This record gives sequence, C-alpha cells and structure tokens, in this order.
Amino acid sequence: MLTGPTKAKAGRGKSGLISTFWLRRMPCGSRSLILPQNGAQTVRQDWHERFAETPDVLKSELLQQTVVPVLDLEIGGGEFITMAGPCSVETEFQLMATANHVRRAGARILRGGAFKPRSSPYAFQGHGLEGLKMLARARQESGLAIVTEVMSEDDVSLVAEYADILQIGTRNMENYALLEAAARSGRPILLKRGMVATIADLLRSAQLILDNGNPNVILCERGIRTFETATRNTFDIAAIALLKQISHLPVIADPSHAAGHRDLVPVLARVAVAAGADGLLVEVHPNPDKAWSDGEQSLDFAGFDEMMADLDPWMALRERVRSLPARALPLRPLLEPRSMEAVG
Ligand code: PEP
Ligand code: MN
Repeated sequence: MLTGPTKAKAGRGKSGLISTFWLRRMPCGSRSLILPQNGAQTVRQDWHERFAETPDVLKSELLQQTVVPVLDLEIGGGEFITMAGPCSVETEFQLMATANHVRRAGARILRGGAFKPRSSPYAFQGHGLEGLKMLARARQESGLAIVTEVMSEDDVSLVAEYADILQIGTRNMENYALLEAAARSGRPILLKRGMVATIADLLRSAQLILDNGNPNVILCERGIRTFETATRNTFDIAAIALLKQISHLPVIADPSHAAGHRDLVPVLARVAVAAGADGLLVEVHPNPDKAWSDGEQSLDFAGFDEMMADLDPWMALRERVRSLPARALPLRPLLEPRSMEAVG
C-alpha cells in the first residue's frame, strides 16, 4: 500500500484543487501518487447543449450520481465494483471454479454469457436456459450477483428471472425494442457502448431506458472500432472521463473487449481506475487457451490475482481523491423538457 504524500502543496491550481498527476519518491523509498480530481460537480453549458437530446442522463442540481442497487451491493456508490468471469458459460466446473476464485480475489459480480453474440452464426451461441441455470447455481454457491447478456426481446423475461443485471451487448446498443423490453423488466441494465457508437449515441440509448421507467442504467465503455487493428478495439479513455464529468450514471470499463489481448488487460484496468470508472468488467477463465470464446483476451486465475493486486495502490488513490471536498460551483438547473427530434 502507498503512504500519503509528505507535502500536499504541489499540484494545486487556482481553484485549490489538485490538478496535476504527481509521482515522487518518498524518503523511505515508497512512492506516492496523487490523481487528478475527476467527475466535476458541474456540467459545462456547452456539454448541456451538445447532449440536449438526452437531458435526463446528465448531472443536474437534483441528481449528481445514480447509485444502482444490486443484491447487497451498490454500483456508483463509492465502492469500486469488479465484475469478472468467463466470456461464455461453458461447463458447471468452469463456472463454479471461476466464481469461487474471482470472489476470493475481490470480485463482487460474476459475469458469463448464456446467450452469446458471435461473429459467425456457426460458432458456439451459448447454452441458453441451461447456462442461466448454471449462473443461478453459481450465485447460490458463491454469493456473487450475476450479470449476463440478453440478446432478444423475446428472452428478456427469461433472462431477468435468473440475472441480477441484464447486459445489453455492443451489437444491440441501438436495438430499441430490446432496450425498451429490458427496461421494463425492472432489472438494472449494463449498457455496453456500440462498437461504432458515439458518446451521444450511447447516451441516447441510456435515455430511452430511463424514459421506459428504469433508472438503473450502468454505462460500459468496451472499446470502439477505429483504423487500429493491433488491439481488438480502441479503448476510449476520454469517454470514461467525459461520461463521469457529465452524467450521473455509473460507468464501468471493460478492458478485455477493448484490448483483445490478455497482457494488455491489467494496464487498461489501471487506466480505467485513474479515469474515474466505477468498476470493471473482466473476462477470466480457468484455462483461457481452451475457452470456447474470447480466450485470447481472458485472464487466467493467476493473471486475475495479479491484476487485482496491482490495482490496490490505485484504489487507495481513488479513495483519497473521492474524499476531497466537492467543487463549490453552482450546477446548471434542470433543462426544460426536450423536444423530440427525428434521428436517423
Ligand atoms: C461480452 O461481454 O462477452 C461481449 C460479447 O461483449 P461486447 O458486446 O462488448 O462485445
Ligand atoms: Mn466476450
């Protein structure tokens, strides 16, 4: 664990807030870091104008942070929440072993796909109902809450029976019929950013869920398509920083789908903490080389333990930043009701 800085004067700007990233050697040889404060309490007027179509997802005087309750947990409530598990639910042994391991290493939520969106329609599509039942047994055994993807509006009530959080995958972020059905299930929704979706597109989908009576939306940055092909996607850190600044919804980072390579996952996880994310979604498998999907980006158990241990000092910094006094600038009042515009 890191110790506190000996002097706090450096790095404070005119506002009195810590504004610079500091790394220096302590006399005893331990290192001390100070992160920039994130998640400003104000939303600049021009952001309000840019995202005027989705006013309810933006911070306001009335709502600065949504806290999503999931079993005995709160997402967005201060505790950094790690969701971990295999890409696909494969076997009882695979799932139980992973659940027990990630719980011991500090994860609070078990992930695993029972309905899998795949690039090829001939690849493994998931176990469906059998997979959901395995997830429910894993919850019972481990005490972890369950997040799993729903791909079709026809499956929403079935998946909602077994899952604590419904995941909307990147390929379905703009499937509005699915979003409406998922919203009406009453379950919290983990809304993954579409691989070619802008931040405005993501917020529009979140707004639709709110409009359908479900306030429990968790945004997820999982990387976007760019010209870069060395990584599976391009991890949009700025999106995390911006979303934390303008939206009251919790933001989760998925470094696994962003990177596509397991050796990059721990560093992207670290960056996500520094950017202000409320938690992580990480793929973990007992034997990644034998995984039925996304093995290349899945951590094995030792890799997950290492990642979690590496995050420790960053968690301590996160706590310190969170304890700084909030900015005393006034918030812009709520906007008048928006006018609906036709969008393509
Ligand atoms: C997943 O979480 O396994 C998944 C398929 O994610 P995405 O929709 O982001 O590709
Ligand atoms: Mn996956």
